[in-house]
Amino acid sequence: MTEALLEIRSLEVAFGGFRALDGVDLTVGRGELRFLIGPNGAGKTTLIDVITGLTRPTGGSVRFEGHDLLGRREHEIVRLGVGRTFQTSVVFEELTVLENLDLAASFRRPLWSLLRRRRGVSEEVTAALETTGLASLAGSKAGVLSHGQRQWLEIGMLIVQRPRLLLLDEPVAGMSSGERERTGELLTEVARDHTVIVVEHDMDFLRRYASQVTVLHEGRVLTEGSVEQVRADPRVQEIYLGR
Ligand code: ADP
Repeated sequence: MTEALLEIRSLEVAFGGFRALDGVDLTVGRGELRFLIGPNGAGKTTLIDVITGLTRPTGGSVRFEGHDLLGRREHEIVRLGVGRTFQTSVVFEELTVLENLDLAASFRRPLWSLLRRRRGVSEEVTAALETTGLASLAGSKAGVLSHGQRQWLEIGMLIVQRPRLLLLDEPVAGMSSGERERTGELLTEVARDHTVIVVEHDMDFLRRYASQVTVLHEGRVLTEGSVEQVRADPRVQEIYLGR
Protein backbone atom coordinates (compact mmCIF):
# COMPACT_ATOMS: atom_id res chain seq x y z
CA MET A 1 0.00 0.00 0.00
CA THR A 2 1.48 3.36 -1.01
CA GLU A 3 1.61 6.12 1.53
CA ALA A 4 -1.28 8.60 1.21
CA LEU A 5 -0.16 11.97 -0.11
CA LEU A 6 -3.60 13.52 -0.34
CA GLU A 7 -6.54 12.59 1.88
CA ILE A 8 -9.92 14.18 1.32
CA ARG A 9 -12.80 13.36 3.64
CA SER A 10 -16.52 14.20 3.50
CA LEU A 11 -15.83 17.27 1.39
CA GLU A 12 -18.78 19.56 0.80
CA VAL A 13 -19.04 22.70 -1.29
CA ALA A 14 -22.32 24.58 -1.49
CA PHE A 15 -22.98 27.48 -3.87
CA GLY A 16 -26.11 28.97 -2.36
CA GLY A 17 -28.42 26.02 -1.88
CA PHE A 18 -26.68 23.90 -4.54
CA ARG A 19 -24.14 21.28 -3.48
CA ALA A 20 -21.38 21.10 -6.07
CA LEU A 21 -19.53 18.58 -3.85
CA ASP A 22 -21.61 16.43 -1.59
CA GLY A 23 -19.43 14.29 0.65
CA VAL A 24 -16.36 13.48 -1.44
CA ASP A 25 -13.79 11.02 -0.05
CA LEU A 26 -10.60 10.65 -2.06
CA THR A 27 -7.20 9.22 -1.18
CA VAL A 28 -4.29 9.55 -3.57
CA GLY A 29 -1.06 7.70 -2.81
CA ARG A 30 2.41 9.07 -3.34
CA GLY A 31 3.60 8.45 -6.90
CA GLU A 32 0.15 7.79 -8.36
CA LEU A 33 -1.09 9.02 -11.74
CA ARG A 34 -4.80 9.39 -10.99
CA PHE A 35 -7.40 10.35 -13.55
CA LEU A 36 -10.53 12.17 -12.49
CA ILE A 37 -13.46 11.84 -14.85
CA GLY A 38 -17.17 12.61 -14.86
CA PRO A 39 -19.74 14.45 -16.93
CA ASN A 40 -19.94 18.23 -17.08
CA GLY A 41 -21.02 19.68 -13.77
CA ALA A 42 -19.84 16.62 -11.79
CA GLY A 43 -17.64 18.80 -9.57
CA LYS A 44 -14.16 18.05 -10.95
CA THR A 45 -13.00 21.66 -11.24
CA THR A 46 -14.57 22.52 -7.89
CA LEU A 47 -12.58 19.71 -6.29
CA ILE A 48 -9.31 20.98 -7.82
CA ASP A 49 -10.25 24.53 -6.74
CA VAL A 50 -10.71 23.40 -3.14
CA ILE A 51 -7.38 21.53 -3.06
CA THR A 52 -5.57 24.61 -4.38
CA GLY A 53 -7.29 27.08 -2.03
CA LEU A 54 -9.39 28.85 -4.66
CA THR A 55 -12.73 27.72 -3.27
CA ARG A 56 -13.61 27.33 0.41
CA PRO A 57 -15.61 24.23 1.24
CA THR A 58 -18.59 24.22 3.56
CA GLY A 59 -17.47 20.99 5.24
CA GLY A 60 -14.95 18.16 5.31
CA SER A 61 -11.18 18.01 5.33
CA VAL A 62 -8.25 18.05 2.90
CA ARG A 63 -4.86 16.84 4.10
CA PHE A 64 -1.69 16.93 2.04
CA GLU A 65 1.41 15.26 3.49
CA GLY A 66 -0.21 15.59 6.88
CA HIS A 67 -0.90 19.34 6.49
CA ASP A 68 -4.46 20.57 6.73
CA LEU A 69 -4.97 22.57 3.51
CA LEU A 70 -8.29 24.12 4.40
CA GLY A 71 -8.14 27.75 5.39
CA ARG A 72 -4.75 28.21 3.74
CA ARG A 73 -4.20 30.77 1.02
CA GLU A 74 -3.35 29.77 -2.54
CA HIS A 75 0.32 30.79 -2.34
CA GLU A 76 0.80 28.84 0.90
CA ILE A 77 -0.58 25.72 -0.77
CA VAL A 78 1.79 26.23 -3.71
CA ARG A 79 4.65 26.54 -1.22
CA LEU A 80 3.63 23.30 0.46
CA GLY A 81 4.16 21.59 -2.92
CA VAL A 82 0.87 21.61 -4.81
CA GLY A 83 0.97 22.91 -8.41
CA ARG A 84 -1.81 23.18 -10.97
CA THR A 85 -2.51 24.14 -14.54
CA PHE A 86 -5.57 26.12 -15.55
CA GLN A 87 -7.73 25.81 -18.64
CA THR A 88 -6.54 29.27 -19.64
CA SER A 89 -2.88 29.66 -20.52
CA VAL A 90 -0.43 31.29 -18.14
CA VAL A 91 2.70 31.50 -20.34
CA PHE A 92 4.29 34.86 -21.13
CA GLU A 93 4.11 35.10 -24.91
CA GLU A 94 6.83 37.73 -25.28
CA LEU A 95 9.34 35.66 -23.31
CA THR A 96 11.19 32.68 -24.73
CA VAL A 97 10.51 29.12 -23.64
CA LEU A 98 13.70 29.21 -21.58
CA GLU A 99 12.80 32.54 -19.95
CA ASN A 100 9.32 31.27 -19.06
CA LEU A 101 10.83 28.21 -17.37
CA ASP A 102 13.46 30.28 -15.64
CA LEU A 103 10.89 32.71 -14.34
CA ALA A 104 8.73 29.88 -13.03
CA ALA A 105 11.79 28.30 -11.37
CA SER A 106 12.65 31.61 -9.70
CA PHE A 107 9.36 31.48 -7.74
CA ARG A 108 10.80 28.82 -5.50
CA ARG A 109 14.28 30.27 -5.13
CA PRO A 110 15.04 32.31 -2.03
CA LEU A 111 14.93 36.04 -2.56
CA TRP A 112 18.63 36.53 -1.96
CA SER A 113 19.47 34.30 -4.91
CA LEU A 114 17.66 36.72 -7.25
CA LEU A 115 20.04 39.47 -6.16
CA ARG A 116 23.12 37.49 -7.10
CA ARG A 117 24.40 37.47 -10.66
CA ARG A 118 22.80 34.68 -12.59
CA ARG A 119 25.09 31.94 -13.77
CA GLY A 120 23.67 30.15 -16.79
CA VAL A 121 20.70 27.83 -16.94
CA SER A 122 19.77 25.99 -13.77
CA GLU A 123 19.66 22.23 -13.55
CA GLU A 124 15.90 22.04 -13.11
CA VAL A 125 15.30 24.22 -16.18
CA THR A 126 17.59 22.05 -18.31
CA ALA A 127 15.80 18.95 -17.03
CA ALA A 128 12.37 20.48 -17.78
CA LEU A 129 13.45 21.33 -21.35
CA GLU A 130 14.40 17.69 -21.84
CA THR A 131 11.30 16.23 -20.19
CA THR A 132 8.90 18.42 -22.14
CA GLY A 133 10.76 17.90 -25.43
CA LEU A 134 11.09 21.67 -25.85
CA ALA A 135 14.91 21.88 -25.81
CA SER A 136 15.12 22.77 -29.51
CA LEU A 137 12.62 25.60 -28.91
CA ALA A 138 14.36 27.04 -25.84
CA GLY A 139 15.14 30.32 -27.63
CA SER A 140 11.73 30.69 -29.32
CA LYS A 141 9.13 33.09 -28.03
CA ALA A 142 6.29 31.26 -26.28
CA GLY A 143 3.85 33.18 -28.49
CA VAL A 144 4.87 31.12 -31.54
CA LEU A 145 4.32 27.73 -29.91
CA SER A 146 1.59 25.38 -31.07
CA HIS A 147 -1.27 24.68 -28.67
CA GLY A 148 0.35 21.39 -27.63
CA GLN A 149 3.79 22.90 -27.10
CA ARG A 150 2.27 25.60 -24.95
CA GLN A 151 0.62 23.00 -22.73
CA TRP A 152 3.94 21.18 -22.37
CA LEU A 153 5.63 24.44 -21.46
CA GLU A 154 3.01 24.97 -18.75
CA ILE A 155 3.71 21.51 -17.37
CA GLY A 156 7.43 22.35 -17.51
CA MET A 157 6.75 25.61 -15.64
CA LEU A 158 5.09 23.55 -12.92
CA ILE A 159 7.76 20.90 -12.56
CA VAL A 160 10.61 23.41 -12.22
CA GLN A 161 8.86 24.54 -9.04
CA ARG A 162 9.29 20.99 -7.75
CA PRO A 163 5.77 20.33 -6.57
CA ARG A 164 5.00 16.96 -5.04
CA LEU A 165 1.42 17.01 -6.30
CA LEU A 166 0.46 18.23 -9.79
CA LEU A 167 -3.13 18.91 -10.75
CA LEU A 168 -3.73 19.11 -14.49
CA ASP A 169 -7.07 20.27 -15.86
CA GLU A 170 -7.83 18.69 -19.25
CA PRO A 171 -4.28 18.76 -20.59
CA VAL A 172 -5.15 17.23 -23.97
CA ALA A 173 -8.21 19.37 -24.75
CA GLY A 174 -7.92 20.77 -28.28
CA MET A 175 -4.79 18.76 -29.15
CA SER A 176 -4.05 16.85 -32.34
CA SER A 177 -3.67 13.07 -32.05
CA GLY A 178 0.13 13.35 -32.28
CA GLU A 179 0.15 15.95 -29.51
CA ARG A 180 -2.08 13.76 -27.36
CA GLU A 181 0.31 10.88 -27.70
CA ARG A 182 3.27 13.07 -26.77
CA THR A 183 1.30 14.41 -23.77
CA GLY A 184 0.50 10.86 -22.63
CA GLU A 185 4.20 10.03 -22.72
CA LEU A 186 5.03 13.26 -20.92
CA LEU A 187 2.50 12.56 -18.14
CA THR A 188 3.84 9.04 -17.72
CA GLU A 189 7.33 10.46 -17.39
CA VAL A 190 6.32 13.24 -15.01
CA ALA A 191 4.47 10.69 -12.86
CA ARG A 192 7.74 8.84 -12.25
CA ASP A 193 8.85 11.62 -9.88
CA HIS A 194 5.56 13.28 -8.94
CA THR A 195 2.05 12.45 -7.87
CA VAL A 196 -0.31 13.62 -10.61
CA ILE A 197 -4.08 14.10 -10.74
CA VAL A 198 -5.44 14.66 -14.24
CA VAL A 199 -8.95 15.84 -15.04
CA GLU A 200 -9.72 14.35 -18.44
CA HIS A 201 -12.72 13.54 -20.59
CA ASP A 202 -11.07 11.75 -23.45
CA MET A 203 -11.79 8.02 -23.12
CA ASP A 204 -9.28 6.92 -25.76
CA PHE A 205 -6.63 8.83 -23.88
CA LEU A 206 -7.64 7.22 -20.59
CA ARG A 207 -7.57 3.76 -22.09
CA ARG A 208 -3.99 4.29 -23.16
CA TYR A 209 -2.49 6.15 -20.24
CA ALA A 210 -4.64 5.86 -17.12
CA SER A 211 -4.07 3.31 -14.42
CA GLN A 212 -6.30 4.52 -11.58
CA VAL A 213 -9.54 6.36 -12.32
CA THR A 214 -11.98 8.12 -9.99
CA VAL A 215 -15.44 8.88 -11.37
CA LEU A 216 -17.27 11.90 -9.98
CA HIS A 217 -20.98 12.31 -10.53
CA GLU A 218 -23.28 14.94 -9.05
CA GLY A 219 -20.71 15.97 -6.47
CA ARG A 220 -19.93 12.44 -5.25
CA VAL A 221 -17.45 9.71 -6.01
CA LEU A 222 -19.45 7.20 -8.02
CA THR A 223 -16.68 4.61 -8.28
CA GLU A 224 -12.93 4.11 -8.46
CA GLY A 225 -10.63 1.55 -10.01
CA SER A 226 -8.72 0.63 -13.13
CA VAL A 227 -9.98 1.93 -16.48
CA GLU A 228 -11.41 -1.53 -17.23
CA GLN A 229 -13.20 -1.78 -13.87
CA VAL A 230 -14.65 1.68 -14.19
CA ARG A 231 -15.76 1.16 -17.77
CA ALA A 232 -17.45 -2.10 -16.85
CA ASP A 233 -19.60 -0.41 -14.20
CA PRO A 234 -23.14 -0.06 -15.62
CA ARG A 235 -23.66 3.21 -13.71
CA VAL A 236 -20.61 4.68 -15.42
CA GLN A 237 -21.80 3.50 -18.80
CA GLU A 238 -25.13 5.12 -18.19
CA ILE A 239 -23.91 8.50 -17.01
CA TYR A 240 -20.71 8.87 -18.91
CA LEU A 241 -19.86 6.39 -21.60
CA GLY A 242 -23.32 5.84 -22.94
CA ARG A 243 -23.79 9.45 -23.99
P1 ADP B 1 -16.98 19.96 -13.73
O1 ADP B 1 -15.60 20.53 -13.62
O2 ADP B 1 -17.05 18.53 -13.34
O3 ADP B 1 -17.62 20.19 -15.09
P2 ADP B 1 -17.65 22.04 -11.87
O4 ADP B 1 -16.85 21.73 -10.65
O5 ADP B 1 -17.17 23.12 -12.76
O6 ADP B 1 -17.92 20.71 -12.68
O7 ADP B 1 -19.12 22.43 -11.42
C1 ADP B 1 -19.92 21.64 -10.56
C2 ADP B 1 -21.25 22.31 -10.38
O8 ADP B 1 -21.10 23.47 -9.56
C3 ADP B 1 -21.90 22.79 -11.69
O9 ADP B 1 -23.28 22.56 -11.60
C4 ADP B 1 -21.58 24.26 -11.70
O10 ADP B 1 -22.57 24.98 -12.40
C5 ADP B 1 -21.58 24.63 -10.23
N1 ADP B 1 -20.67 25.73 -9.90
C6 ADP B 1 -19.33 25.73 -10.08
N2 ADP B 1 -18.79 26.89 -9.64
C7 ADP B 1 -19.84 27.65 -9.20
C8 ADP B 1 -19.96 28.96 -8.63
N3 ADP B 1 -18.89 29.74 -8.43
N4 ADP B 1 -21.19 29.41 -8.32
C9 ADP B 1 -22.28 28.62 -8.50
N5 ADP B 1 -22.25 27.39 -9.02
C10 ADP B 1 -21.05 26.90 -9.37
